[in-house]
Amino acid sequence: SRIPRIVILGAGYGGIVTAIRLQKELNYNEADVTLVNKHDYHYITTHLHMPAAGTDKPENARVDILKLIDEFKVDFVKSTVTQIRPHEKKVILEDGTLSYDYLVVGLGGEPETFGIPGLKEHALNIRSINSVRFIREHIEYQFAKYKREPDRKDYLTFVIGGAGFTGIEFIGELADRIPALCKEFDVDPELVKIYNIEAAPTALPGFDPELVAYAMDVLEKKGITFKIGTAIKECTPEGVLVAGDEFIKAGTIIWTGGIRGNHMLDEAGFETMRGRIKVSEFLRSPQFDNIYIVGDCSIVMNDEGRPFPPTAQIATQQGEVCAYNLIASIRNTEPKTFKFTNKGVVASLGKRQAIGVVGSRKLKGNTAAMMKKIVDMRYLYIIGGIPLVIRKGRF
Ligand code: FAD
Repeated sequence: SRIPRIVILGAGYGGIVTAIRLQKELNYNEADVTLVNKHDYHYITTHLHMPAAGTDKPENARVDILKLIDEFKVDFVKSTVTQIRPHEKKVILEDGTLSYDYLVVGLGGEPETFGIPGLKEHALNIRSINSVRFIREHIEYQFAKYKREPDRKDYLTFVIGGAGFTGIEFIGELADRIPALCKEFDVDPELVKIYNIEAAPTALPGFDPELVAYAMDVLEKKGITFKIGTAIKECTPEGVLVAGDEFIKAGTIIWTGGIRGNHMLDEAGFETMRGRIKVSEFLRSPQFDNIYIVGDCSIVMNDEGRPFPPTAQIATQQGEVCAYNLIASIRNTEPKTFKFTNKGVVASLGKRQAIGVVGSRKLKGNTAAMMKKIVDMRYLYIIGGIPLVIRKGRF
């Protein structure tokens, strides 16, 4: 009989781990595996806050896909997916069509702006290598512009919407970068203002309150002004209007306040919640048994019936189970139920500063920063083994 075709969309955390597991476990001619991704590199999103702020090079947050997969076992197609047609078992690419027997959707998330006017048009997002290159250049450009128009102090004002993981990690880096930028452009550091605005009643919702207080203290000492429990009502090219009708003029507005699933899922007729598919215990679409969803496009519920936050950690674990279940389908063996095991969460606050919870232990300061490095290296090990840890690991 014909060899089953597996198509994996997206080489993010979920997709690349699925591909790597499949190439390891599948026997010769057991399945045809094709991996499709927009770029020929995988990006390490958990590192993107650094190149975005300019404290590291974008190169350090990416890995060539062909260094991770074995082309004799997995076909890599560099292309952009434009449409999924689940009834026809086809995906449409910008330059072709692929048919599949089994599909894995790992296209990642998109910014959720909750309908706040102007946010989509005027705010920047930390999402990809291209977006962080743009942000880094944009920040430097604001300093250069200020030197030409010294009455425009708003060029030196930064608004970061959202005090979740991404927002907090980014402001920690940005605060670290400001002294160097001020020196380079001869700007008085007192003139630089960084606002972190969050609608929820706390920064880092869901995190241990004692650690949140520690993080805010560290960041306030670095010069961040928090506006917690304050909603952004509107965003314009000049700044943001916040609750209480205060308008903050800013040359840079970055939105990190929400993630939704890829828009193609809604377009394809999947039932979604904010663009994400609530998957079955086997990580399958409840509508189509041959479609698996991993990472930010999927929703997995915890024991209290609330969705787990979309993280690289859960996406990686899903990739492993997704590959296992694909093979089970092909071999007609029992699939595995997905169970998320929280291995700990660490948020960086800039150089040598972080907070984290690992097991029942609370970590802060340099210890937590070391843990962040260990977590990052562990991931490099999962996808690329020791050689990748040596090449990309940061000791
Ligand atoms: P992603 O990693 O989002 O990758 C999706 C892939 O699909 C990309 O390669 C993209 O190029 C590709 N793609 C998208 N659209 C198309 C298309 N149309 N055609 C072809 N290819 C396409 N999580 C943690 O656990 N810990 C952290 O410390 C942490 N820090 C973060 C910091 C930042 C700045 C950000 C942005 C996120 C962070 N996260 C963290 C969250 C984590 O990055 C995501 O949950 C994770 O990346 C989701 O993985 P994924 O498999 O859904 O796909």
